[in-house]
Amino acid sequence: MQVEDCLFCKIVKREIPSEIAYEDDEVIAFKDIQPLAPVHLLVIPKEHLCSLNDTAEYETLIGHMFGVIRRLAEELGVAESGYRVVTNTGADGGQVVGHLHFHLLGGQALNAKIG
Ligand code: AMP
Ligand code: ZN
Repeated sequence: MQVEDCLFCKIVKREIPSEIAYEDDEVIAFKDIQPLAPVHLLVIPKEHLCSLNDTAEYETLIGHMFGVIRRLAEELGVAESGYRVVTNTGADGGQVVGHLHFHLLGGQALNAKIG
């Protein structure tokens, strides 16, 4: 189910344009509009889940999303060089868009600092 005024639900519904890298029945991956690395995709469920906190009943979906991320990393040529997967959760986590998303970052040596 999608939510009316959610930015990423609008991307799922094609109401906002995006550069889609992958799509299936459950998941969509698109380029981040303000990339922080040469490879910066956002991988999201089509269903509106606010954050990782909402995924207790969705562990199969989360596993599927990580399979998608792993295959995208291979396709984009960063599997060997390395990459980072991040999901910001809530206020302290720095989450800005309230629709679960995994950042896939790679293509350069990333800052090792977390937090
Ligand atoms: P977060 O801080 O984890 O909630 O990240 C939200 C991400 O969404 C940021 O990296 C933004 O650059 C990205 N973003 C915001 N609007 C769009 C958009 N229309 N298309 C693609 N990425 C977007
Ligand atoms: Zn949404």
